Amino acid sequence: MELEKLLGEHVQERLATAERFAALTGAGVSAESGVATFRDPNGLWAQFRPEELASMQGFLANPERVWQWYQYRRHVIESVRPNPAHFALAQLETLVPDWTLITQNVDRLHHRAGSRRVLELHGNLEENHCSRCGTPYRQEIDADAPAPPRCPACGGLIRPSVVWFGEMLPADVLADAERAAHRAEVFFVIGTSAEVYPAAALPLMAWERGATLIEINPTATHLSTIVHAAIRQPAGVAMPALVELIAALRQR
Ligand code: NAD
Ligand code: ZN
Repeated sequence: MELEKLLGEHVQERLATAERFAALTGAGVSAESGVATFRDPNGLWAQFRPEELASMQGFLANPERVWQWYQYRRHVIESVRPNPAHFALAQLETLVPDWTLITQNVDRLHHRAGSRRVLELHGNLEENHCSRCGTPYRQEIDADAPAPPRCPACGGLIRPSVVWFGEMLPADVLADAERAAHRAEVFFVIGTSAEVYPAAALPLMAWERGATLIEINPTATHLSTIVHAAIRQPAGVAMPALVELIAALRQR
């Protein structure tokens, strides 16, 4: 089979016997669900300046525009579904003893596909909190309201709980992700340009500790020169085949 040839014997051996697996996913894993990526030529950022839509300065300068932008993205993710790559990753979690799925995505599609252990490095689109005092905001959101609601505690503007440019990643989530990268024997890098740090450092950490690195991306990235195998296919095509192979290898 072609995939087996592509991976080679050493990688297959690791897939068959390793105990600790981890994956880092990016916007590419949701592309086939119809959620635009950021850095592709047709991606979201091609039409807007990222700082205007995804930074505290941009939000304070124009809260209505930023709020409407996130309401639009929420609408998009509600209307799409997980694709075969998300489902394959959820299945993989049940096949190996130790599994950590680290994602840069904020769309919750991994959860919707059934993944249980998901580390969201950049937060998620479902939740909101106060931009002034940080209190979580759990009241119903009026989908048609043109402006963000106000915090009942302090009157500050409510914002989506995603990590914006210039902001720190949630420290506990990042620490868990780094631990998983250090421990992993096999590390998948799926649908990410690996250009946004500190997320992009995770595959390097795993590689330094001897993990077998496997990239799934139709396009090469700067990680491509160090990975042990690169599957140049859309994740929705590659992941089901890869997970099927892993299941077969581990049954032998
Ligand atoms: P990116 O846009 O920088 O890179 C996307 C990568 O996916 C590219 O390397 C591209 O070649 C690859 N790709 C495109 N289609 C693919 C497919 N079908 N299968 C596999 N790979 C495919 O995305 P990134 O690396 O995740 O950038 C990080 C930032 O973008 C993060 O901060 C993330 O929060 C944000 N983001 C999230 C979403 C989402 O939640 N779905 C969408 C857009 C951006
Ligand atoms: Zn507040």
